[in-house]
Amino acid sequence: MHRRALLQGAAAGLALGAGVKPAAAQAEHRWKMVTTWPKNFPGLGTSASRLAALIGEMSGGRIQVRVYGAQELVPAFEVFDAVASGTAELGHGAAYYWKGKSEIAQIFSSVPFGMTAQEMNGWLYHGGGLDLWQELYERFGLIPAPAGNTGVQMGGWFKREIRSLDDLRGLKIRVPGLGGEVLRRAGATPVNLPGGELYSALHAGAIDALEWVGPYNDLAFGLHNAAKYYYYPGWHEPGTTLEALINQKAFAALPADLQSIVLNACKVINQDMLAEYTARNPVALRTLLAEHSVELRAFPPDVIARLRDLAVEVVAELGDKDAFARRVHDSYQGFLRQARDWTSLSELAFLQARDRA
Ligand code: CA
Repeated sequence: MHRRALLQGAAAGLALGAGVKPAAAQAEHRWKMVTTWPKNFPGLGTSASRLAALIGEMSGGRIQVRVYGAQELVPAFEVFDAVASGTAELGHGAAYYWKGKSEIAQIFSSVPFGMTAQEMNGWLYHGGGLDLWQELYERFGLIPAPAGNTGVQMGGWFKREIRSLDDLRGLKIRVPGLGGEVLRRAGATPVNLPGGELYSALHAGAIDALEWVGPYNDLAFGLHNAAKYYYYPGWHEPGTTLEALINQKAFAALPADLQSIVLNACKVINQDMLAEYTARNPVALRTLLAEHSVELRAFPPDVIARLRDLAVEVVAELGDKDAFARRVHDSYQGFLRQARDWTSLSELAFLQARDRA
């Protein structure tokens, strides 16, 4: 049964974007999906829309999901509450937006100098991470599911060059989550803003710098028109997991086959988004450099070294909040310790061998 659902999910995944029409069955469940992204924003919003379409296709039209962009039904940062309260049955966002609900939730999106996309998926699906995430969200009447990954992000857009740690001091920069806390300790002033407000805030000078995602998404927002220095690497988000939030009661009302379809559709989208970013980021980066005269910069090594030291402190403190946070922290760090040994002699060693000039 599970295997069949998985195979159907894979088949529907292959057909994404190929114009597959849902069978004309009567909808038995009409769901709303609220998102933290503008509707159909490249990669993020489109993945949410694909998730909705895929659930419709795989269920033969028995579940119909209507997607609402940020602000259409609720503001971006009220998605968590909207799904928890049942205003919507489904949400699409990122766990670090909910640190006001639970500090440790941030670990399920991305950790500065932490796991890559591949390692995150290993931890979540086969290393106990998703079980802990479910245990946390259960308190809020929610079920989380990984539903997208951006891969390594970019370090962000800066109006002035960052030549030393001094240049970070006093800088008002939009960085959500744990990366923001690291920058605060480095002397910057981190703020969080939803994606739809980034361009105007940077353009108007309300902030001095920002990070969003990477070339594909940043080009779509026109961020190169607001600042010219584009920094790498995205030390603060090395493989950000996006999430689907499912209302527990709505999920419990589904028969087992539809429950499997919803969860496996999330799994397809989790893989599909990473594939899309891997394909689109290099093309968008070329456009930014060739057509928009963007100045690409690497963070200086001493800046990276200091941020890494601060990140170790910030992540270590996360585990001190309570007993549950300790379990999540230890699970994440234990998995990372093992994974990095393998990653360094597989991906890292191979990429150095492949790309050394
Ligand atoms: Ca980001």
